[in-house]
Amino acid sequence: MKSAAASNTIVKKIFLCTLVVFVAGCAVNPVTHESQLSLMSPQQEVATGQELYPLYTQMSFGLFQDPVLQDYVQTVGKRLAAVSHRPNMPYEFNVVNGSEMNAYALPGGKISITRGMVTRLQNEAQLAAVLAHEIGHVSAMHHATFYTRQVVAGLLTSIGSSVLQAAGVAGADLISQVGLLAANLTLMKYSRDQERQADELGMEYMVRAQYNPAGYVQTMALLQEEGKREPSLLESFFSSHPLTTERIVASNQRLEKYGPELRTPEALRQGPFAERTVYLRQVAPAYEKADKAKEALSRRDVSRAVQLLRQATAEAPKEALIWVYRAVAEKTAENGSEAVAAAHRAVELYPDMYHARYVAGVVLFHERRHQESLEQLGAANKIIKDQPQVIFMMGRNWEAMGQRDRAARAYYAVLQKVKKGPMAQYCYQRLVSWGYLR
Ligand SMILES: [Zn+2]
Repeated sequence: MKSAAASNTIVKKIFLCTLVVFVAGCAVNPVTHESQLSLMSPQQEVATGQELYPLYTQMSFGLFQDPVLQDYVQTVGKRLAAVSHRPNMPYEFNVVNGSEMNAYALPGGKISITRGMVTRLQNEAQLAAVLAHEIGHVSAMHHATFYTRQVVAGLLTSIGSSVLQAAGVAGADLISQVGLLAANLTLMKYSRDQERQADELGMEYMVRAQYNPAGYVQTMALLQEEGKREPSLLESFFSSHPLTTERIVASNQRLEKYGPELRTPEALRQGPFAERTVYLRQVAPAYEKADKAKEALSRRDVSRAVQLLRQATAEAPKEALIWVYRAVAEKTAENGSEAVAAAHRAVELYPDMYHARYVAGVVLFHERRHQESLEQLGAANKIIKDQPQVIFMMGRNWEAMGQRDRAARAYYAVLQKVKKGPMAQYCYQRLVSWGYLR
């Protein structure tokens, strides 16, 4: 009965594949060895990952600037990837600077984990569990049925653009833009079956790479606990990887299958983890202050935000992202020259960070330093191309410099991307009053 049902499923899959072979393709799943519908070839998968990875990294607030931790996560990830079902994918691992707890895999084996997630982990086996779960999704080709060419094109054009209803007309709107750019990150939602499979593969890869598989259930317990304590921190992670009681029960049962050899404290590798996260732990209190400051800004408690961020930048003076928030807070408090100094510090520490360049462009514009503002916005535009808020601020600078034609072209370009809200209204009104539009 069971095998009849199974062969029936295979027949259906073969039929489905014959049917769609002209629009998509079929691939042999490296995990199940069954033929499955695939909307991308492996080459497209790799190319898509390469295109999206830098953008997703920027949207997740850039890289956490600690080469020791970056190397460590890369090493742990590659150790697991090497024993996976698709060891030859061009895997890459990084730590992005978001405070929420999240991890995600893009097609082609590009995997990110947030600073917020690493901060809450306690040993290397737990880190391995998070990475191995994501590698499980890559190995079982879960992306191949989600990332159609239309989805990818949509992701590339929509990055940031739904955010811009409250454009940078007033300084107070800056923070919501900086925050929302990340919230706009679109991630794939896995099905229950895909989650079950990624759990199974994840624990298997951990064991193959000589980690104590107990790290897997430790991580699940930790996520569940944090999810109850502060649900907003885990929103994105749970929406793409729903955590059910069933998954936790299944993982605990699976753990019992593995023998006692690896279930030792040594194989949790707490020492190496503690060693490589020294800097992370050192700056963690400053990031907590920065997160509190963001909350204070959202309730318009500007002086509290400034106070917290001045403390935070003193405690962690090398963290570009904290300087970006400080620039926003100082600008909101109308401390223009403090804002410019903070933004410059951020750019100096991390020149390739979109948020640093954009915020520097905005605060310099408000100080009427138009040429310098245009330089910063130009740099932001190289990091993430054609963001309407960047083009808008360029237009504002040209307008202020009396270059009406260039300004008009910029406003017109903004209106191609954003149709509603104060920024669109501003552009439309200028174009009408200058006679470019009727
Ligand atoms: Zn998952």
